[in-house]
Amino acid sequence: MSKKLLIIGSGTAGLMVANLVARQLRGPVAHRDIEVTVLGERDEYVYQPGFLYVAFDLWEPDSLRRKVADLLSPGVRFVHDRAERIDAAAQSVTTRTGQTLQYDYLVIATGSQLNLTEIPGLEEGAHWFYTLEGALRLREALKSFEGGRLVLSVGIPHKCPVAPVEFTMMFDDWARARGIREKTEITYTYPVARPHTIASVADFADREFTARGIEIETFFNMDSIDAQGKVLHSQEGTDVPYDLLVAIPPHMGDTLGAASGLAEKGNWYPTDRNLLRVGAYKNIFAVGDTTNIPVSKAGSVAHFESEVLADNLVGLLTDGREPGHAYTGRAFCFIETGLEQATYISFDFAHPPTVPTPSRSIHLFKQTYNRIHWANLKAVM
Ligand SMILES: Cc1cc2nc3c(=O)[nH]c(=O)nc-3n(C[C@H](O)[C@H](O)[C@H](O)COP(=O)(O)OP(=O)(O)OC[C@H]3O[C@@H](n4cnc5c(N)ncnc54)[C@H](O)[C@@H]3O)c2cc1C
Repeated sequence: MSKKLLIIGSGTAGLMVANLVARQLRGPVAHRDIEVTVLGERDEYVYQPGFLYVAFDLWEPDSLRRKVADLLSPGVRFVHDRAERIDAAAQSVTTRTGQTLQYDYLVIATGSQLNLTEIPGLEEGAHWFYTLEGALRLREALKSFEGGRLVLSVGIPHKCPVAPVEFTMMFDDWARARGIREKTEITYTYPVARPHTIASVADFADREFTARGIEIETFFNMDSIDAQGKVLHSQEGTDVPYDLLVAIPPHMGDTLGAASGLAEKGNWYPTDRNLLRVGAYKNIFAVGDTTNIPVSKAGSVAHFESEVLADNLVGLLTDGREPGHAYTGRAFCFIETGLEQATYISFDFAHPPTVPTPSRSIHLFKQTYNRIHWANLKAVM
C-alpha cells in the first residue's frame, strides 16, 4: 500500500513542502510507493512581494505569475479544486466538486487572506496593495495623485509585517522624484504604542519617518471609513482626513479550518511552534501564514518551516520515524527603505533582530532574490 501525503494550498509553503519531499524521495515517488498530492484552488501561483512594485508601476503583473503545474517536481500530482472539509477521523478531505481525497499525512498550507468587511467603509474608501487587483487599482490612483494627504493605515494581524513600512518610505521617495513631496503630507498609523510590533523596526521607523517628515499616529485601530467625506476614524476616537488612503486590511485564515472544527479564532490553526503539528493530531501539520504561531506571517517563515516539516515528513513516510527536526522561529525579511536602498531583519524565537544601515547593495540583493525565488519554490536552491 502506498503512503499518501496530501498538501492543501498551492502557495509558497504548499509548493515548497511538496517539492522538498518529492526531491528527497525521488525513487519511491516515481514508483508510486509514496504519493504526494497538492490540492489547490488556484492553478496559478502569484508572487505576492511583487505587489509593492506593481503599485509603483515598477513591475508588470505577468512577471509575478507562473502555472502551478510548472513549479511542481516530477511525480507530484496537482488537483485543482478547493478543500471544503477535513475529516480527521476518516483521514480524508472533501472538495468543492465532491471529490474525496484520502491521506496518511496532511499538510495545511492555506495561507491568509484579507478581511475586507471588518472595517465599515474600507472597500469603498481605501486602497491596498495586498492583492494583485488592489495593487493595480492603487497604481492608477497614484498616477493621478498630484499631492495632498496620503494616509497609510495598518490593521492587524497581517502578513509581511514590514511591507507597510516599505510602502511608506517608497512613497516618500516616489513623491520626491515626482516633485510633489512639498505639497504632500504623509501620515502612518499603527495599532499599538509604537510604529511597529518589533522593537528594533519601531525604533528604525521612528527615526526614518521623523527625518523624512512623515507623521506617525500610534494607538490607532481602524474603526470605520467615511468614503464620501474622506475621513478615517479610529477606535480610540481620532479622526484622520485623507485624499488617498492606503490600508493594510486585517487578515484571517481560510474558512476550511472552521468548517472542519480544527481552527480557532480568526481561522488560524493551533499549531505546535516546533513540530508544526495541529492540535493533538500526529498526522496533521500546518505551515506558513495559516498557523497561530507567534512569528511573522512571511514567505521566509513559510520557507524555513517547510524545510523542517519536509525533513520530518520524509522520516514519517519512509519508516514512520518520529519527527526530529524543530522549527526555531527563523525569519528573514528585506525592508525597502525607498526606491534605491534597503535593509533587512533576521531573527528567531530566541534572538530578536537588529536593523543594519540601509544600502544600495541590500536593495540590489532584494531585487535579485525577487527574480530567482522560483528556484526556491522548486526546491532547487
Ligand atoms: C504585498 C506583500 C508583500 C510581501 N512581501 C514579502 C517579503 O518581502 N518577504 C516575505 O518573506 N514575505 C512577503 N510577503 C508574504 C508572503 O507572500 C506570504 O507570507 C507567503 O506567501 C505565505 O505563504 P503560504 O503558503 O502560507 O500562503 P500563500 O502563498 O498565500 O498560499 C496559500 C494558498 O492556499 C490556497 N488555498 C486557501 N484555501 C484553500 C482551500 N480551502 N483549498 C485549496 N486551496 C486553498 C490559496 O488559494 C493559496 O494559493 C508579502 C505579502 C504581500 C501581500
